[in-house]
Amino acid sequence: MTERLTIAIQKSGRLSKESLALLNACGVKFSINEARLIAHSTSHPIDLLRVRDDDIPGLVMDGVVDLGLVGENVLEEVRLEREAVGDAADYKNLRALDFGGCRLSIAVPRETPFNKLSDLNGKRIASTYPYLLQRYLKENGVAAKNVNLTGSVEVAPRAGLADAVCDLVSTGATLEANGLEEKEVIFRSTAQLIQCNDTLSADKQAMIDQLLPRIDGVQLAKE
Ligand code: ATP
Ligand code: ZN
Repeated sequence: MTERLTIAIQKSGRLSKESLALLNACGVKFSINEARLIAHSTSHPIDLLRVRDDDIPGLVMDGVVDLGLVGENVLEEVRLEREAVGDAADYKNLRALDFGGCRLSIAVPRETPFNKLSDLNGKRIASTYPYLLQRYLKENGVAAKNVNLTGSVEVAPRAGLADAVCDLVSTGATLEANGLEEKEVIFRSTAQLIQCNDTLSADKQAMIDQLLPRIDGVQLAKE
């Protein structure tokens, strides 16, 4: 019996539709039951695990799933965090994908004078990406304090919780609507296809080797 390849994708969010569409375009078909965590492919011995995007890098790094589709921002944040606490943080990056494009940027309230990054010395910056933020500040010799939030980062300055934010931006509309101005891009991201670092069975590896050229074909056709 062939072993089933497992792929983790975001259950519901900005990457979900395009992750499924990519697999579908590669000929890997699923019929999704929204209430279920697992979906079995109707065309291949492949199972989908539908989880929060934040859980995807760890599932791959721990070898719980074989493949994952996740934003590079989340991937790199989780990698830094796991490295810091001594957890396994290895994975193989198979492909950078052409969806989920965004940037992680520092923004300040419109009325805050800001000329250079060092203006943030001694300030509080609200973010859901403390490791990416601190790495960037450290590389640039700025000492600012993290205010770690899991959401609603963009309202933190107005609520008096922080002087600036470090948040994901695609169009800038959310920042604008909250009276914030983007000042510094610290990380650019797209969705990535990653594989666990363990050696997989020949069957599973063969499926991945078959999938990759199809992904390349699908991406090329979209250009
Ligand atoms: P989950 O419930 O899975 O934790 P989430 O709210 O953390 O979802 P989404 O907002 O769906 O995540 O974003 C998922 C990913 O989509 C981001 O990590 C990022 O890689 C990408 N992305 C693309 N554009 C944006 C954007 N404008 N804002 C936020 N994320 C974006
Ligand atoms: Zn998330």
